[in-house]
Amino acid sequence: MGIKVDVDTLDGYRHGVPVLLEILEDRGVKASFFLALGPDNSGRAIWRVFRQQGFLQKMLRTRAPAIYGLKTMCYGTVLPAPLIGAAAPEIAPRIAAAGHEVGLHGYDHVRWHDHLLGMSAGEVAREVGRAQELFAALLGRGARSFAAPGWQCSQLSRAVLATQGFLYASDTRGVSPYWPCFGGSVSRVLEIPTTLPTLDELLGFNGCRAQDFSELILARLESGRPQVLTIHAEVEGGPYRQEFARLLERCRQKGVDFFRLEDWARELLQDQAAVPAARVNLQRLPGRAGRVSCQGTPEAKPL
Ligand SMILES: [Zn+2]
Repeated sequence: MGIKVDVDTLDGYRHGVPVLLEILEDRGVKASFFLALGPDNSGRAIWRVFRQQGFLQKMLRTRAPAIYGLKTMCYGTVLPAPLIGAAAPEIAPRIAAAGHEVGLHGYDHVRWHDHLLGMSAGEVAREVGRAQELFAALLGRGARSFAAPGWQCSQLSRAVLATQGFLYASDTRGVSPYWPCFGGSVSRVLEIPTTLPTLDELLGFNGCRAQDFSELILARLESGRPQVLTIHAEVEGGPYRQEFARLLERCRQKGVDFFRLEDWARELLQDQAAVPAARVNLQRLPGRAGRVSCQGTPEAKPL
């Protein structure tokens, strides 16, 4: 199983990441971290309440105010948006030094999540380019992997990733790695989708409690196929740290192997023809507000 850690906020970056590093270190697990490095505009996400079906229910069900804290929920509105990477420059090198993969989760997480589909090619390129500049300032090299904020990707965003030389991306939800198709065009950037439901999607859904999380995930691992679990620094590195630690314990008892997504991508890229192509669709997922990019029907791969 690959553990994909999305870091969306300054609080998650500064306080959630060190908690996760300790939990992972104690169990000898290497993970893949994806950092949003630009302004933390989390407060603006509150405005989604007025625009997006399901957001308010989700906020209440997952106890979002407890997870994010009042300060984070005001960033970008009544409080100025702090720059995440610059506010705690020591964190990114610590992640890399511990042997984890470090990739990008965008520049302005809220802007990408809410507005990607309305952005011009120049605007998307600017979002990725700015994130890369901040990443290089922290780690002395560009990021090789990208995970789209809010699982929002488009033909345009994938074209930008291709021109900026990314090895692979993890932008979507799906079942296994693929080449994403948009209409007639195929992205040249390999996609490794998140295959498992997230803790916040499971919580409160069909009577699922936080303590059921490990068993639900373990049941999904029984297929024997490699799986990718997305966790959030603000959630599993915050109020749900014990549930995450318990999941890793249970995985260890069951002999589950962990891999970094970058290592899997390099393996897959050695035999590119063996990776199928599939359409990308915007879909609703149980327990998640709004629609996200999902792996759709397989497509015949063009030569
Ligand atoms: Zn995110």
